[in-house]
Amino acid sequence: MPYVISGACIDVNDKSCMDECPVDCIYEGERKSYVNPKECIDCGACEPVCPVEAITQDRDVEAGMEAFVEDDRRFFVDVLPGRDAPIGAPGGARVVGTIGVDTDLVRDWQA
Ligand code: SF4
Ligand code: SF4
Repeated sequence: MPYVISGACIDVNDKSCMDECPVDCIYEGERKSYVNPKECIDCGACEPVCPVEAITQDRDVEAGMEAFVEDDRRFFVDVLPGRDAPIGAPGGARVVGTIGVDTDLVRDWQA
């Protein structure tokens, strides 16, 4: 089961987790980052470095944050604002660079 990033990352988004990921599958939006579920190998290396404990396995997300399991997936399969195709599974965040936009859920999220 892939790891996911919950809403606790929103407006923190400090990228600490990205340096830990051996397959470079954490992609940077504007307010939040997102784990690509097609590329995550479930190693768990990202989880302990997050300063706000936003990263968990998908079955362990905290109460109230369940929507972010599907939302991380949607970041890669929906066509995001300003793009003409889904991100899909490009083989690493460094391949595509900072995405710089968010899903609707994250864009409109009120803490
Ligand atoms: S669990 Fe491992 S592969 Fe998945 S996002 Fe975290 S560091 Fe990357
Ligand atoms: S370490 Fe945590 S807060 Fe920082 S970008 Fe990753 S998930 Fe977001």
